Amino acid sequence: MSFIPQEILLVKNGELALKGLNRGTFEDVLLKNLRRRLKAVGRFSLRKSQSTIYIEPLDEWADMDEAARCVSQVFGIAAYSRARIVEKDLDAIGRMAPLYLADLLSEAKTFKVESKRADKTFPHPSPEISREVGGYVLEAFPHLKVDVHNPDVVVHVEVREMGAYIHTRQLPGAGGMPVGTAGKAAILISGGIDSPVAAYMMAKRGIALTAIHFASPPYTSERAEEKVCDLLRQVSLYAGHIRTFVVPFTELQEAIRDHCPEELFTLVMRRMMMRIASMVAVREGCGALITGESLGQVASQTIPALACTDAVATLPVFRPVIGMDKEEIIRIARKIDTFDLSIQPFEDCCTVFTPRHPRTRPTIEMLEHAEAAFDFESMCRRAADNTRIVKL
Ligand code: ATP
Ligand code: MG
Repeated sequence: MSFIPQEILLVKNGELALKGLNRGTFEDVLLKNLRRRLKAVGRFSLRKSQSTIYIEPLDEWADMDEAARCVSQVFGIAAYSRARIVEKDLDAIGRMAPLYLADLLSEAKTFKVESKRADKTFPHPSPEISREVGGYVLEAFPHLKVDVHNPDVVVHVEVREMGAYIHTRQLPGAGGMPVGTAGKAAILISGGIDSPVAAYMMAKRGIALTAIHFASPPYTSERAEEKVCDLLRQVSLYAGHIRTFVVPFTELQEAIRDHCPEELFTLVMRRMMMRIASMVAVREGCGALITGESLGQVASQTIPALACTDAVATLPVFRPVIGMDKEEIIRIARKIDTFDLSIQPFEDCCTVFTPRHPRTRPTIEMLEHAEAAFDFESMCRRAADNTRIVKL
């Protein structure tokens, strides 16, 4: 006998409903992202109709709890709900509604039924469906009262071509735009709290990510690199696959230490990062760089300092957390489960050779003068050429 699913997920598109002519493409990308994400959880069929995507399990092994969790992490979804499928028969719908929603209804004081008849061949009009199903609910839960204005629970009944659905409570989706609809950018990822949040925020706007991490062995350890991979794996639950590169940065950092004034160490280093990241990003087809910089957080994140780093980037630099307090950034880090990974203590290359008194009001001339002391161009090129790809 063929498998008949009992439960499905109904997904409402988010912002992409506004995209007019592009809507088709956006929905296709969303479907592709959902398919890819759900593959690990079981076999599902995905179908779109108007602004709803129907996710139906294809066998009894598909895990609906896990599927719902995956759906809640995919960008481009405004809301989703779980629904029970019933045969298109008024009595069957009426019997199932109080059973399927028993947990919610037993805790509620008031309810109402809202019905939609998309399949006009169904012989009962919507008000009749609501009335009948309401009767079954009241019979099963006599303590309930109907309240059409402000009910505790709304029982939704939808009668469509494929069957009838009973559901309640739309859950909020991840919002944003489907990853891949806004091009590609490279996140400069450290092991800190801010850059994973920055990555998440830009993925939410539909950007597909490539990651670039600077490592300075033996000053930085293998564990630091593993930590970055752990962080990226967590971010990729939302952002999809992230091609990840590690840049060998030791030679440059030692040259900076040997040739530049100490107060400019960090800024020269950040300009080298921008130069190398620009090269790698362009090579990978990215249109922008992303960092986790937040205004005033450290000396290298003042307006003059940011102007100095921007000056050497050949791509636009997105800094989605620039206006956020640490508290706000941490709130997001906790929400996306990167916080606990981020606070593991491993040396980042930024904490190697940190100046005691960094300049907060540098000028581009000062930096160019400091950089003239060594052949940074060939070192940057070498670092970009020797970048290695790592598997997450
Ligand atoms: P985070 O929590 O992201 O580490 P932070 O406050 O520690 O941020 P900095 O160390 O000054 O800030 O780094 C600022 C930004 O520079 C980071 O958010 C990140 O985008 C980038 N960055 C810093 N270190 C590295 C690194 N080792 N590899 C790649 N990018 C880095
Ligand atoms: Mg850092």
